[in-house]
Amino acid sequence: MIKDTRWNSRLILLFAATALLVISTPPSDASTFDVRGMVPVADRNIRTGNKMLIEREITAKDKHEENMREQGRQGDDTTATEDDGVLDVNELPVRYDEAQLWRIYNISESMSRRRNMMPLADILESKYGGTVWKENSKFLDVSIEKNHIKAARAFLENQNLMSEVLNSNIQELIDQESAIGVNMTQSEMGQRTKKSARSGIHWKDYHDLDTIYAFMREIRGKFPNICRLYTIGKTAEGRDLKVLRISENPKEYKKIWIDGGIHAREWISPATVTFILYQLMSKWQDHPEYIRQKTWYVMPVMNPDGYVYSRKVNRLWRKNRAPAKRSQCLGVDLNRNFDIGWSGYGSSTNPCSDTYRGESPNSELETDAVVKFLSKRKYNLESYLTFHSYGQMVVYPWAYKAVKVKDAGVLQRVANTAVQRIEKKTGQIYRASVTHEVLGIAGGGSDDWSRAALGTKYVYTIELRDRGQFGFVLPPSQILETAIEGYTVVDTVAQAIQ
Ligand SMILES: [Zn+2]
Repeated sequence: MIKDTRWNSRLILLFAATALLVISTPPSDASTFDVRGMVPVADRNIRTGNKMLIEREITAKDKHEENMREQGRQGDDTTATEDDGVLDVNELPVRYDEAQLWRIYNISESMSRRRNMMPLADILESKYGGTVWKENSKFLDVSIEKNHIKAARAFLENQNLMSEVLNSNIQELIDQESAIGVNMTQSEMGQRTKKSARSGIHWKDYHDLDTIYAFMREIRGKFPNICRLYTIGKTAEGRDLKVLRISENPKEYKKIWIDGGIHAREWISPATVTFILYQLMSKWQDHPEYIRQKTWYVMPVMNPDGYVYSRKVNRLWRKNRAPAKRSQCLGVDLNRNFDIGWSGYGSSTNPCSDTYRGESPNSELETDAVVKFLSKRKYNLESYLTFHSYGQMVVYPWAYKAVKVKDAGVLQRVANTAVQRIEKKTGQIYRASVTHEVLGIAGGGSDDWSRAALGTKYVYTIELRDRGQFGFVLPPSQILETAIEGYTVVDTVAQAIQ
């Protein structure tokens, strides 16, 4: 049965209201820092990123010309652009007009009656134009293409599955997300020229890969004595994999690793991780010892190919963009590709699936690069923090089996502290728990791997906002507060490590 909750009209109101709010009120944490001090130059972002989502056709010629103009404008700071070498007329943006987002309940109950059936998510993906957004023990969020809605609804009714419509036009959600970004940027007309902050980063909109990498170079440039910028590998499409190290004493200090953007469509994750970098560096000298006497490794985008593809072609892309040997389908789910419980529950052997585990453990360039880099640096590595969305959770191992780590009590306590501090700061409720209980069992994750292979103690996966209203398409007006929530977890964990 379907219950239409009329999100549509509510959404429009909500967008308008939140946009107004953010324009008219300073960020809640304005006393400790001023994001508006960072120069917002997001024109580039709008042109190369979000616009693609609302255009029906882009020819290779147009794209090429745009590239040339872009490169001319960027000056000598340019290395690779998001477009480098990729001029493919077949890569037209995927649209989700009148596609609906459904939440389906009580799946295991209903499905367990039919033992030999394919998992529901697979059925919806292969037969009903579905894209799985989120799957856990309680519900499945899946978007269904317009022309499959009738059939999919009939199928669910036939299976006696309860569902509700969370959103009835995904494309509208995507368009509104990009429109808000545009408005936010244009509302600061006076500050649109590049000044000291050459990357032009800010947290009012989602940024393209170039801006994020320029921001990392900018930090390295401003703090040459304590920062080191690594290119730890390249992707299938030739993009750099970048990690920034911050440390006053790399040999002695305990290490904390932070990554984002393993899953392409979770845009709030790189946004949060770049904000964490900003928070760390914008007042480095004022930080307490538990922050300054640490070695930080920060990788805002572990899956650059997927991220670029999600911005240009398919907003809901999750995997990397590696070609498969025996399939037309592209991409491996990097968070199923690590060497821990690989190919177990929660991952797929089908290259067309969103949770495809890859040919073998570490088969992917991104996974391999991170594994090699961290394996060499496991001495003193006390924490592995990985940012995802959505669901508002702080979870710890294990994910690949229904067992808690031995020191789960400690991990739960620190996570409890983090979620309590988040609630005080922004009012948002996050849940602290062991992973398999709230997200279901899944093998091949980076979090479990760092615990099992490196012996890292404080391993957390942070599922950022929201809880399903906007899902991956979180409005830009929520970036700053969400990023503050992310930083709160980082600060709490750093404090726990003495
Ligand atoms: Zn994720």
